[in-house]
Amino acid sequence: MTARVLLLTLGGTIASVPSDAGSGGGAVPSLTGADLVAAVPELSQVADLDVRSLLQKPSCDLTPDDLRQVAATIAQAAEPSQGPEFDGATCDGVVVVQGTDTIEESAYLLDLLADRPIAVVVTGAMRTPSSPGADGPANLLSAVRVAADPAARGLGVLVVLADEIHAAAHVAKSHSSAPHAFTSPGVGPIGRVVEGRVRIWAYPVRSDPPIPVPADAVWPSVPILRVAQGTAAAEVEALATIADGLVVEGVGGGHVPSPLVPMLAAIAATKPVVLASRTGAGGTLEATYGYPGSELDLLGRALISAGPRNALQARLWLAAHLAAGADLPS
Ligand code: ASP
Repeated sequence: MTARVLLLTLGGTIASVPSDAGSGGGAVPSLTGADLVAAVPELSQVADLDVRSLLQKPSCDLTPDDLRQVAATIAQAAEPSQGPEFDGATCDGVVVVQGTDTIEESAYLLDLLADRPIAVVVTGAMRTPSSPGADGPANLLSAVRVAADPAARGLGVLVVLADEIHAAAHVAKSHSSAPHAFTSPGVGPIGRVVEGRVRIWAYPVRSDPPIPVPADAVWPSVPILRVAQGTAAAEVEALATIADGLVVEGVGGGHVPSPLVPMLAAIAATKPVVLASRTGAGGTLEATYGYPGSELDLLGRALISAGPRNALQARLWLAAHLAAGADLPS
């Protein structure tokens, strides 16, 4: 039986063409989901597609509320008998198409909001459709292949670009322009599309249980403070003033200059402060260093460890907990 895949498009480079509307004639998101599908005739051999153009944005304009809408649409598609375009049957998978700049945030947030029995794949493109070597068509085809494949179910949200399959918990955009821009630092991809077939060689461990955020919950403000040599307490104070919670992206395993400690301790007494590592892989240490501003010092002053999550993930993880009114692990 042909697989059924719901395709949701949100904009991004994959849909961007040069336009008078763009600054300096630059590319802006314009193509619809139907346009993208029409450029890849092979898709019809892989799956029956239900194509919906939900948004037309560069991915820096996507918001957590946009992603909550996407999550609600996916939840509906995952329900038996809720997909009218498929004669009332459940679809096998969903592909979300968006700009690559924030794919890792979308994938992580969609993963965090629900555990689904169907495959969910996020993709995009590094090159616009009119560029030589445009990667959008190949990425779209591989993403649909993965979403249609039973092997991709139950793995959480996946990101597919350049024929590589990445888990939401690990994927990162690691280059601003290279066609092969996506990596999973420290672990690597979990699979690959080879000759049109999906090969999975690692099963991601789900580190975060789903957090059901009520539909009417207001998304909180959780800024990230990236710490560097000489970061001042006044900078931390200014940011914390406007925040519902804070992510401190410390150096190394989660360390800050010692003059910041009293300020961070005072903030952590009134709102949640999560301690992450700015290294990009390996997570926050919890039991190695004891000097002022070390991870042991800060965790002892009520900061919360980000654990394996990077700062972008910790920001969404904390915000989802706050929005849901859920307890944070101490
Ligand atoms: N600036 C684009 C975006 O994120 C980049 C891309 O799609 O690759 O919307």
